[in-house]
Amino acid sequence: MLALNGLGKTFVGSVQPVVQDVAFSVEPGEIFALIGPSGCGKSTTLRMIAGFETPDNGTIVLEGRDITKAEPERRNIGIVFQDYALFPHLTVLDNVAFAIRDTEKKMRRKKAIKYLDMVGLTGYGDRYPDQLSGGQQQRVALARTFAATPKLILLDEPFSNLDAALRHSTRREIRELLKANGVGAIFVTHDQEEALSFADRVAVMRRGKIEQVGAPEEVYAQPKSAFVARFLGRTN
Ligand code: ATP
Ligand code: MG
Repeated sequence: MLALNGLGKTFVGSVQPVVQDVAFSVEPGEIFALIGPSGCGKSTTLRMIAGFETPDNGTIVLEGRDITKAEPERRNIGIVFQDYALFPHLTVLDNVAFAIRDTEKKMRRKKAIKYLDMVGLTGYGDRYPDQLSGGQQQRVALARTFAATPKLILLDEPFSNLDAALRHSTRREIRELLKANGVGAIFVTHDQEEALSFADRVAVMRRGKIEQVGAPEEVYAQPKSAFVARFLGRTN
């Protein structure tokens, strides 16, 4: 469904490429985790897929369409980044309803309520973003992203503001939504345990390159390098 081929990026003024020869694919409904040390190029990779950065090399193909140079808003990709900017002048419900394509207002609001229920924010629709906690705002951003029914969702540390219990329940809800709708997801996390337990496949990045890709149990049991083993917390 999504295929990255030989993606590369060097920022002006930097000597080393920040992303180099990155290639992987994501299937419909698949949850793909991208992990690696700070600065290894995870966010830059997501930003290229989203269309906020232009790659110097390689292609991005979504459902057979080459979107390497397409405008972000024409990619049909949902994004939940750390800075989950909501519209401050719109209520929570309208923030979510905004993303829904139905023409009828009543239907948009009805669907928006469903997405708010999904992220555990039943009854919060009439509040404004600044009347919510950081974690609640993050969940509104998640609801809004799903409400736009994208083909692929990019999540950059989307659960960072949630406590452990909420993290688990939100993850479960997201998994069900992705699977039910055949939507693929790439998510970046600093929590190795989360990547291994939540993802269908994991890619470990190091200095702009993919060091290993595979099923969590495979990457964990058969790390290709001492780096991967160490990064996943394996001591032997
Ligand atoms: P973290 O886990 O800390 O979020 P990351 O893997 O997401 O790290 P990136 O944000 O992709 O890392 O950054 C990769 C490298 O590219 C870093 O060395 C960073 O300083 C550099 N970089 C990122 N954006 C730019 C930019 N706009 N201009 C120049 N260098 C950049
Ligand atoms: Mg990052």
